[in-house]
Amino acid sequence: MSAELVSVIKTPRYGREEAVAAVRRHFAALGVKEQVGPATRALIKPNLLMKRAPEGATTTHPDLVYAAVVCLQELGVREIVIADSPGGPYTESALRGIYRACGMEEVARDTGARLNFDLGEGERENPAGVKAKKFAVIAPICRADFIVDVAKCKTHCMTTLSGGVKNLFGSIPGLQKPRMHYRFPETEDFSQMLLDLCGAVRPDLVLVDAVECMEGDGPSSGVKKQVGLTLCGRSPYAVDECLCRLMGFSPEQVATVRLARARGLFGGEVALTGDEDALQNRHFQRPRSSTVDFMAGVPAPLRRPARWVMRTLFTPRPLIDTAACVGCGKCAESCPPQTIVLEGGKARIRRERCIRCYCCHEMCPVGAIRVSKNILTKH
Ligand code: SF4
Ligand code: SF4
Repeated sequence: MSAELVSVIKTPRYGREEAVAAVRRHFAALGVKEQVGPATRALIKPNLLMKRAPEGATTTHPDLVYAAVVCLQELGVREIVIADSPGGPYTESALRGIYRACGMEEVARDTGARLNFDLGEGERENPAGVKAKKFAVIAPICRADFIVDVAKCKTHCMTTLSGGVKNLFGSIPGLQKPRMHYRFPETEDFSQMLLDLCGAVRPDLVLVDAVECMEGDGPSSGVKKQVGLTLCGRSPYAVDECLCRLMGFSPEQVATVRLARARGLFGGEVALTGDEDALQNRHFQRPRSSTVDFMAGVPAPLRRPARWVMRTLFTPRPLIDTAACVGCGKCAESCPPQTIVLEGGKARIRRERCIRCYCCHEMCPVGAIRVSKNILTKH
């Protein structure tokens, strides 16, 4: 298997000119002009997790989305749609608020790209899927013939790293996402499902915003970290492998990367181009919830009780800071087993049914849910 090319470009700060210059170099290095033209129907899939300003480093910065649109237009592409299914309900008003807060309205206004308001869905298949072979996805994914996955480089409480593969979880419409968490509560199974989904969506290009990243308790409650890079490649697995290196995580700590290697989705070799020396370990702080996968060494018959012990004694729990809670209900809305109730205007978690997926932590707009250190774990 030949090495996968990943382009790394120093992009010290945001700004439309800087972003366009960087994306032009990425596209030239990867030969994107051979793949697109006036008949291409392109889809740009940023990470628009929630209604938050770009300065929060939670969502893909609009300057990078702008640059992706402009550089596709320079190659003759006329039809470009910006689409995502953020956390929470998938409605026109929710999308409108998120596009505005995340800076996508200006990108669309200034480039002529279209913001997606089609709430329909279609189906994409991955016959080689391990956990799932068919996925309901938002309609524009099915109409596109060139998909650009424009991810944000962040830590993630469940998957440790959010990059090219994890960003595609936003291809699943609205509240069907919590259902996937409910079906696959273990990180290992959930990560297999993400790889299946990635093989169903099949992005043509992955562009990563690693100018300002997030470390610690990502994807929404971590701390902003200045890195000053953008990355681009054709293989989401190879790009995530590079993000592992950049963040200082081993593939053992990131199930999607380890499993992609094990499944042969990626040959393991990356050929860097551009400012390749800039891809150095930046020592990201890991999320408090991330644990080493102790299950790998446990014999199969003992895994169920071992998982119970792990979950009960070792896995950090979500805790609500009632003083900070504003009673918006977004955590309850996104909780897969519906184990959060609102009482007296405050959220309360009924612990016995919690599967520790951290969706509530991810969706709380005011950071009122923290992931507790467990008494038996010290990270
Ligand atoms: S309470 Fe939070 S961590 Fe527990 S199942 Fe619900 S969303 Fe997941
Ligand atoms: S914990 Fe956060 S998401 Fe849940 S109701 Fe309170 S403020 Fe809203």
